[in-house]
Amino acid sequence: MTQESSQEIMEKIVSLCKRRGFIFQSSDIYGGINGFWDYGGYGVTLRRAVEQLWWKEMVEDRENIEGLDSTIICHPRIWEASGHLEQFSDQMVDCRECKKRYRLDQMEDPSKCSACGSNQLTDPREFNLMMKTFVGPVFDEDHAAYLRAETCQPIFVDYELIRQTCRQKLPFGIAQSGKAFRNEINPRFFTFRSREFTQLEMEFFCRDDKAMQWYEYWRQQRWNFYTQTLGIPAAKLQVSDHENLAHYAKAAMDIEFAFPFGWGEIEGIHHRGTWDLSRHQEYSGRDLRYLDQETGERFLPTVVETSCGLDRICLMLLANGYAEDQAETRKEGKKEDVRVILRLPPCAAPVQTAVLPLSKKLAEPAARIYQKLRTFCRAEYDDGGSIGKRYRRQDEIGTPYCVTYDFDSENDQAVTVRDRDQMTQDRISIDRLPEWLLGRIHANSAFAD
Ligand code: ATP
Repeated sequence: MTQESSQEIMEKIVSLCKRRGFIFQSSDIYGGINGFWDYGGYGVTLRRAVEQLWWKEMVEDRENIEGLDSTIICHPRIWEASGHLEQFSDQMVDCRECKKRYRLDQMEDPSKCSACGSNQLTDPREFNLMMKTFVGPVFDEDHAAYLRAETCQPIFVDYELIRQTCRQKLPFGIAQSGKAFRNEINPRFFTFRSREFTQLEMEFFCRDDKAMQWYEYWRQQRWNFYTQTLGIPAAKLQVSDHENLAHYAKAAMDIEFAFPFGWGEIEGIHHRGTWDLSRHQEYSGRDLRYLDQETGERFLPTVVETSCGLDRICLMLLANGYAEDQAETRKEGKKEDVRVILRLPPCAAPVQTAVLPLSKKLAEPAARIYQKLRTFCRAEYDDGGSIGKRYRRQDEIGTPYCVTYDFDSENDQAVTVRDRDQMTQDRISIDRLPEWLLGRIHANSAFAD
């Protein structure tokens, strides 16, 4: 894919997101704020659906994973212990001529500005990514606090309390989904690199001699989540093993997706050793060791982490699903027009089925079907405009199934269901419709084929 076309595709995705209210810049009427994005109607539904799929697979379907919802602002000592205050920084470079700012490790040529070509660059400076605030009425260093830069640190801090109250034994995990904040030097690629984003993280506590087995297990589980649950083609995903490991880590890898702008990290899976618990034990003075009741041994558990970004997963679904083809049109002077389709997996689509009466005269019976469908799936009712226009709109927001109630429906008690991807039109009896739809909405592996 050429540079230009990949940029064009991103522009089309951004424009579709705004046009249909999925995602748009925060504080839009004030001109926006760089690195912050709002999710409107369909966008927030998509995001919640993906989060819920993750939560179900990682927490609800497992007996050995507990949930946590911690505060965003935590005790500042947490970030000293985790090393974030000292080390969580990037190298920043400014162009003296055009004032453009870069992250050193993202510069193609660190000796010149890619915007204006000047070599008048500042020396690289360390820039801490933690967002700072003050707690209480006095704005001084004694009252400084930080918005969490990752959701996992509170998991380590609350680990022993959760283990005890939930009566868990090793191996077990704690999961959290929530906001994280990073003062990214150069937010870019739409929501890919934002300053406020949502992380979905799970820390799995186990014995050290079993940790590598768990690492492999989670790698497979997380791969399956993308390929099977969300139906992302395996060819668009890759696992990249870290060559440079943190001193405490035994292994680390990223799952990456082929975005229009290149491979981008979606999730990291890390063997973190006992680093985090040992640091919090040291800084808090609390004994965080685990007592093995059978052997009488006391030790700090080893941690295997799965850590992904919800906004990046949503962007991946949008990028993977965006497609265009030619469709008939009634526009004057044109036979065909571009049809934009968002091939979202049915399990995550904000609208899973739309009910469209062929004519306003059929509104009443169609609305009755809609009322029934919305009790078990995300449904929308639309009786405005031509049927062609309504199909187009549903294609653009990623609705996999459109149910049309027509004049024959009165007689045969059946409706036509149009499949967004196959473009098939099946006549289904109204009685069988819920079962027919449910089977398809939850048939993830069928979608992946
Ligand atoms: P990157 O190398 O892209 O900066 P990272 O390795 O710092 O990411 P982690 O600290 O491992 O990322 O965070 C876990 C996950 O959180 C990432 O895989 C990504 O999905 C998400 N994430 C991290 N930073 C951002 C960001 N600025 N905007 C959106 N999502 C992010």
